[in-house]
Amino acid sequence: MANKEKKKFRLFGGKKDERPVVKKTDISAPLDFIHEVHVGFDPESGEFSGLPEQWSALLQVSGISKKEIAKNPQGMLDVLEYYTESTGQNAMSDKFMTLNHKEGSRADLKPAAEPSLPPPPPVVERPAFTMSEKTKPIAQPAERKDSQDQLRAPEAQAAASPGVPKRAKDSKKAVTTEEVMSRLREIVNPANPKDCFSNYQKIGQGASGTVYTATQNSTGNIVAIKQMNLAQQPKKELIINEILVMRELRQKNIVNYLDSFLVGEDELWVVMEFLAGGSLTDVVTETILNEGQIAAICRECLQALEFLHANAVIHRDIKSDNILLGMTGDVKLTDFGFCAQLTTEATKRSTMVGTPYWMAPEVVTRKQYGPKVDIWSLGIMAIEMIEGEPPYLNENPLRALYLIATNGTPELQHPENLSDVFKDFLNQCLEMNVDRRASASQLLQHPFLRKAAPLSSIVPLIKAAKQALAQQGRS
Ligand code: ATP
Ligand code: MG
Repeated sequence: MANKEKKKFRLFGGKKDERPVVKKTDISAPLDFIHEVHVGFDPESGEFSGLPEQWSALLQVSGISKKEIAKNPQGMLDVLEYYTESTGQNAMSDKFMTLNHKEGSRADLKPAAEPSLPPPPPVVERPAFTMSEKTKPIAQPAERKDSQDQLRAPEAQAAASPGVPKRAKDSKKAVTTEEVMSRLREIVNPANPKDCFSNYQKIGQGASGTVYTATQNSTGNIVAIKQMNLAQQPKKELIINEILVMRELRQKNIVNYLDSFLVGEDELWVVMEFLAGGSLTDVVTETILNEGQIAAICRECLQALEFLHANAVIHRDIKSDNILLGMTGDVKLTDFGFCAQLTTEATKRSTMVGTPYWMAPEVVTRKQYGPKVDIWSLGIMAIEMIEGEPPYLNENPLRALYLIATNGTPELQHPENLSDVFKDFLNQCLEMNVDRRASASQLLQHPFLRKAAPLSSIVPLIKAAKQALAQQGRS
């Protein structure tokens, strides 16, 4: 089960009679080495040889045809690795699993807790605390290794602070609740929140906690409070990440962090501004947006992304669920649990995060990636605003990953209904070649955004979505 070495599956040859060769490549590294497992593929029969049994089984139920696999067998291996690691099914390493079931068909398959694999071969010294994320650093083949792959995630800095126990490099033991609590005690407001807020009403349930509205006694303002039980968090360090990032990054298109508290033995409350309009998901699933409204929402999201990226932060989970709306048409980005902060020199990461359907091809094929993954996801979110859901949502998740890796820019169901300028905007977001993909700043100059309607124009949609959901007996 828990081999410590990293395996990398590579296609070997491709001729019919070639036997799968298992080749062990020891990359000179004190901490880690990579097993390059060479897998054979026969393009005529469309079959792999030397594939782990569990992978063959996954392939069989995925609905991916042999003909399809023949188009991109290496891509198939890449997404199989990605899929098994993000769902914790990888027999090669021990991981957690969360299947984050949301309503209807929008079931998420989120990479769960950080699998605590040893770090990749260090070109520069890479401290063990950089491993302490929900995400997993992926060992790169030596030639692909970025020599400046040094990460400065805020929680990593936190962990570097004196007094915080560091995880031993070879220890797979997660940080304990007590360790996280002691770090949090330095960060949070020591007051008792029960003296500060009243009139709690539950408004939502997330994977990491329950969200309430409450009235702030001193101002009479309504706030949102996310209450998390730390003992139940698979990767508690991430919570520190989320708080530190939210606290520092203030911009009008980002949900404002207000305060945080520790309550009782192991509860963390994060207080933030309340957005009464609900999530953009409700609007895209229940109503039809016109191009002016879509342009306005894209512009607001791009402003948030331009700001984050300028601060060397990648959000990594851009999707309509993470866009909250105000009743006057405010559009704000939330959910910083996955975000990564990079040093300015190291602008690429190679960890697995986000939600499959919104993920950029370079993520699902486990290549290094940078801020432009958020731009791809924004493009997918724009498709949600057109079609009500992201491409491949009803596919088997493994097949969805394979299609993202292989098809590149997804096709629209009815491209003829869109203006040319909107299609150009989408193409710039959903460009396979990362260097050619536009940045947030570039997209803010795109002529599509000149079509933007006033933000107040989305208010009727918010109201209509609320009404529709109320009629369906939710919300
Ligand atoms: P997680 O973030 O734990 O992975 P999640 O995104 O499903 O899971 P939460 O972020 O905890 O869940 O949010 C739960 C619900 O509360 C969501 O429906 C969200 O729209 C709503 N919500 C969260 N924060 C706010 C806020 N500041 N204002 C209004 N509604 C909010
Ligand atoms: Mg959330």
